[in-house]
Amino acid sequence: MRASRRPLLVPKLRLGTPERGKGAEVPKRSLGTRSKSVSSPDPSFPRTLTLGRKRLPFPSPPVRARPHAERGDEEECGEQRGGLRNSLDSAGRAVYLIAMAKPESPSASDRRSRRVVVCAHCVLNQNAKLEGLARWPGMIEEAVELIRRSGAGILQMPCPEMRYEGIGRFDKSVEQYRCPAYRELAGEIAREVVGQIESYLQWGYRVPVILAMDGSPSCGIRLASSAPEWRGPVAGQYWKPPRYIREPGVFMAALEEELKRRRIAIPILGIPEGPDLGSMGEVLGALGKVLEGRVDEGGGRGA
Ligand code: SF4
Repeated sequence: MRASRRPLLVPKLRLGTPERGKGAEVPKRSLGTRSKSVSSPDPSFPRTLTLGRKRLPFPSPPVRARPHAERGDEEECGEQRGGLRNSLDSAGRAVYLIAMAKPESPSASDRRSRRVVVCAHCVLNQNAKLEGLARWPGMIEEAVELIRRSGAGILQMPCPEMRYEGIGRFDKSVEQYRCPAYRELAGEIAREVVGQIESYLQWGYRVPVILAMDGSPSCGIRLASSAPEWRGPVAGQYWKPPRYIREPGVFMAALEEELKRRRIAIPILGIPEGPDLGSMGEVLGALGKVLEGRVDEGGGRGA
């Protein structure tokens, strides 16, 4: 097994809520200015976000996104796009933060939660899995139940392997899926999904987490199945079982790249595809935390 651990792409992220009734005092030093503090006018609004050891103010006052054409200010769109706002990490790189722009509901009877969890296709449909690998009859009920109780909706990503080869496919290693055609397909799906995520964020919705599938050569985030020797005729061969490498699968790699390109930071949790690939209890615990807004574990990698 190769053990190349990749660095975290996303800094630690923690939300802070100020005391009600007063504007939050936030050290302005964290933005690189000289004054000591800044007050936010809206006390009902989470105001601080911690990146590693840095506390940064949330947009204040909250920004309501408008379509580019309506604003006619392309310049501003790059810096401050509705629910997204960029800041600098400790290395001085620009990072888009997920800001909670206060939405203006078009109707008082509209009950939406404005929270969307993004899931690998088979979290909701185990029938898409390679035959022999489905651990649940239909949905991964424990995870779906947590999301249901939180009031969030679900954006189900397409299954890249179903699109590529359908349900009658043979097992493949991450090395085989790293062929140009599959990478292109993975990139195409990633652009489509991240485009939808960006739209939600621009309009003040929250996307608290993305659920991946650890062990899959496509949708693993911490682990992908590897068998560099697999090739040639399938029938009658003695196949060495796959090993697991600490790298993302082809589709998750494309998704991370697209999120990074658009400077969107969302934690990604990997549900273990097999019982020996991680603790389901730990993943559910981490999922519960992010859904409750207790995002004190960092980053772009799963539990
Ligand atoms: S892990 Fe990804 S590629 Fe595999 S069945 Fe699930 S959605 Fe499809």
